[in-house]
Amino acid sequence: MPCPITRSYLSGEVASLIEARQAMAEAALPAGVKDGKRPLLIKGGIVLPIDDAVGNFPVGDVLVEDGRISAVAARIEAPEAAVIDATGKIVMPGFIDTHHHQFETALRSQLAHAILINDGRPVNASNYYETVLQKLSLGYTPDDVYINELFGGIAQLDAGVTTVMDVSQIHHSPEHSDAAVEGLRDAGRRGVFGYFEGWGDRARYPGDARRLKQQYFSSADQMLTMVMGGEIYLPGYEEAWKVGRELGLPIALHVVGTFGMQPTFDELGAAGLFGPDNIFIHMTGMSDAGWKYAADAGAHVSLAVPIEMHMRHGTPPIQKALDLGMGLSLSSDVECTMTADMFTQMRALMTLQRMAVNEKALGGAPNYPDLMQCADALRHATIEGARGLRLDKVTGSLTPGKAADIILLDAGALNVAPLNNAPGAVVTLMERSNVDTVMVAGKIRKWQGQLLGFDIPRLTREIEASRDRIFKATGVERDLFAF
Ligand SMILES: [Zn+2]
Repeated sequence: MPCPITRSYLSGEVASLIEARQAMAEAALPAGVKDGKRPLLIKGGIVLPIDDAVGNFPVGDVLVEDGRISAVAARIEAPEAAVIDATGKIVMPGFIDTHHHQFETALRSQLAHAILINDGRPVNASNYYETVLQKLSLGYTPDDVYINELFGGIAQLDAGVTTVMDVSQIHHSPEHSDAAVEGLRDAGRRGVFGYFEGWGDRARYPGDARRLKQQYFSSADQMLTMVMGGEIYLPGYEEAWKVGRELGLPIALHVVGTFGMQPTFDELGAAGLFGPDNIFIHMTGMSDAGWKYAADAGAHVSLAVPIEMHMRHGTPPIQKALDLGMGLSLSSDVECTMTADMFTQMRALMTLQRMAVNEKALGGAPNYPDLMQCADALRHATIEGARGLRLDKVTGSLTPGKAADIILLDAGALNVAPLNNAPGAVVTLMERSNVDTVMVAGKIRKWQGQLLGFDIPRLTREIEASRDRIFKATGVERDLFAF
């Protein structure tokens, strides 16, 4: 029996505990760290910059000045700096998620069993396309958009994801669009606003891109940038591509064979319309010719490996992208069906790639591709994402001159010690509880395992209230124990 779920699951005791932990962490910030006015010296960490030119350091220091990385070395003297003791911590760039639908945060796990589109079987009557995009999304007010964007954003910040491309398919009015940008901004991390479609009489996609770009993204030197959504399964996508290119924005789109996109994709490729400004998400079910057009054009591929396997997009084309030498990044996609942390992404990427290669090896194939290594998975989760989002001059590695988007991971934790291999520990052992410190543009956002600067109990109650509103408005049933 479906049961109403309109209660809060956050007890007063738990709320008090969260607040007390945040206050303790804040009080423990070293002098000069909080205001960000002094340089910061991250000292004595296991430094993994994801930049061969910088190199790794078993014991190393990172100096941060004016929000940027100014030096990475075995030892840095900076007497004027506030010191962050990184002993026992892996110091690396923050993770980059190149495709996340943050507006769906209130729907977390609602479609845990869902596939992408209705296949006619009763078990799949509740499916992503019909239930989320054609029903639940229509119940969002601008206030819902804001709290969903903000809550999803800070939850990922807590997991060490310092940059996101948010694919916001919720632009039912200009006010919805404004709320999406504001929620992304208020999470305090680097964000790429993916301006995708909306529905209804007041939807202004794609033309409102001109206003949004001018109003929110007029400077290149800011935490938020913009990408144009250009879904080729929607009528009128040609106009979206035209507006995007007129504004000099990268163009991102889902590319999924089960939506019947392959002929259109091939036609666009053959017409020479692909470019290095394209971000192709999923790339399942495409022809060899389509792949060649995309690779020759220098397009980027974003894979949501667990989602593609789980929701019947098709087998994640990891090897195809690697063999063609394409830029390949990772994306969490939808939390209504799968968690949004990058540890899950990296493990799925690596185990699936290796499973396919190992099958070839066991089958006696004379030649088979190289097995993916942990350092490769880390690159796909950081610098490759930055390249795909055209932010590689700004973030994605601990390279002097880049913004200080840095995470400290606890290598001495119960699930990690004793440390024997740093990339291996991050990719094969760690999870979000190991994310000790998160810094974005030199500003501390998480310290001693606690997110700072957000009233988490209040925001939790707001996301619960948003969930209740959305379900009520759309008449979709919830069943706490479905299936
Ligand atoms: Zn998506």
